[in-house]
Amino acid sequence: MTKAKALPFARHKYADGSFKKILIDGKWVSAASGKEFESINPATGELLATVAEGSEEDIDRAVIAARRAFDGPWSKFKPFERQEILLRLADLVERHFDELSALDTLDMGAPISRTRGSRRRALGMLRYYAGQATSIHGETIHNSQPGDFFSYTLKEPVGVVGAIIPWNGPLGAAIWKIGPALATGCTVVLKPAEEASLTPLRLGELALEAGVPPGVINIVPGFGETAGAALAAHPDVDKVAFTGSHVTGQSVVKASAGNLKRVSLELGGKSPDVVFADADLELAVAGAAMGVFANSGQTCSAGTRLFVERRIYAEFVDRVAEFGKRLRVGNGLDPETQIGPLVSEQQLDRVTSYLDLGRQEGARAIAGGTRLKEGALAQGYFVAPTVFADVVDDMRIAQEEIFGPVISAISFEDIDELVRRANSTMFGLGSGIWTRDVSKAHRLAGAIRAGSVWVNCYQAMDPAVPFGGYKMSGYGRESGLQHVDDYLNVKAVWIKTA
Ligand code: ADP
Repeated sequence: MTKAKALPFARHKYADGSFKKILIDGKWVSAASGKEFESINPATGELLATVAEGSEEDIDRAVIAARRAFDGPWSKFKPFERQEILLRLADLVERHFDELSALDTLDMGAPISRTRGSRRRALGMLRYYAGQATSIHGETIHNSQPGDFFSYTLKEPVGVVGAIIPWNGPLGAAIWKIGPALATGCTVVLKPAEEASLTPLRLGELALEAGVPPGVINIVPGFGETAGAALAAHPDVDKVAFTGSHVTGQSVVKASAGNLKRVSLELGGKSPDVVFADADLELAVAGAAMGVFANSGQTCSAGTRLFVERRIYAEFVDRVAEFGKRLRVGNGLDPETQIGPLVSEQQLDRVTSYLDLGRQEGARAIAGGTRLKEGALAQGYFVAPTVFADVVDDMRIAQEEIFGPVISAISFEDIDELVRRANSTMFGLGSGIWTRDVSKAHRLAGAIRAGSVWVNCYQAMDPAVPFGGYKMSGYGRESGLQHVDDYLNVKAVWIKTA
């Protein structure tokens, strides 16, 4: 195995690029297999770090620790104590802001400007969930036999949560699971994505420093088919919170059947972004472009089906193409970089095969359409921001999730027909509407079958606003009060008063 290079935070104990332990029961321990896997810097193709490979046995150890903590000491923590821990963790994330941003950039490629922005959002989330810890309550229910019975509900933590996260925003994804779990009094076994385990592991260290008791957060890096599958199937896990592809989501649901654990799924999308001729076109060009190109198209809610009203179609898609061509693609550590690499060689192959497919299907690449190989880019996994014009609804590039910087631009005329076409996808995660006509915006917002509708903006997010899917984009919501409820059981209590 080649030796990993020094990471850019020399004083840290992982400065030699090895993350050879996993977090179980408050201790950093070796993986049972003794095996390691490599994490590659996608901007350079170089070995970044070696990471301990957790297996089924490690997942089992972690679940045992999580159960023990849930049944024991953690259950005695008062809501305000859980709140204090979450707030301390947020402070530590803030203190290590630059390091965590750089680590995400190195591990999965996103430009530093983006990973810094994600850090801000992650902080907001942690503090939001900290606030929720002291706001959990049931209801008094006025039943229809008031003289006979008094009834009320209690909300109780669901138990041990298996959190399986993707690589496209590792720290944010980890916090999106750990935050509500700790707020509600659950314990967690977190399985990061094999492409991007470093920030979640570092978060584990900060969690211990923040005073998270042993067993409350366990972090087991490893592969999906082994560690991930073991977590989804584990008979002593009460809930799986999964973010990833719809195909893996289906495996998780099947695996969960053994003990009928609760499952929440935040899956992929092929989101429609609709531009009307009456929109502020300058705003819409930038919004439509960055609604896909941000994070090199590696966001589940990217507005990849760009529907443009026919009379402005040619001009508008040209402007989006020009916008895409001007974006600075490069190593994410360069503060000038706007678009980083794709996360892995496998992802590069997948995206470039869709670029070939688009051309074969008869679409016209008016921007990008190729891998970028000039100079230093040749070592990494870079794809040019791409706009395909002349796309029709049934092309595969208009139906399948590419997860790369690829816009499929489609024209439309009639709004009713547009609704039908926008909804004719198996997904339903995000959607965008660009118009100055408020009635049209409301009408369409009601008709589009998707978990989020962004009007004159794209991918706005907030810890208090629910995010999640319709149809094959999954179920359950992240952010907002419903997210907290997803980690709680409701118990009804009846008192006979007659
Ligand atoms: P992507 O295609 O974006 O990598 P995946 O859905 O494959 O998305 O991966 C998301 C997460 O799911 C990762 O942590 C991965 O290791 C995990 N995973 C992959 N396969 C399985 C599986 N069969 N069971 C549980 N988790 C899995």
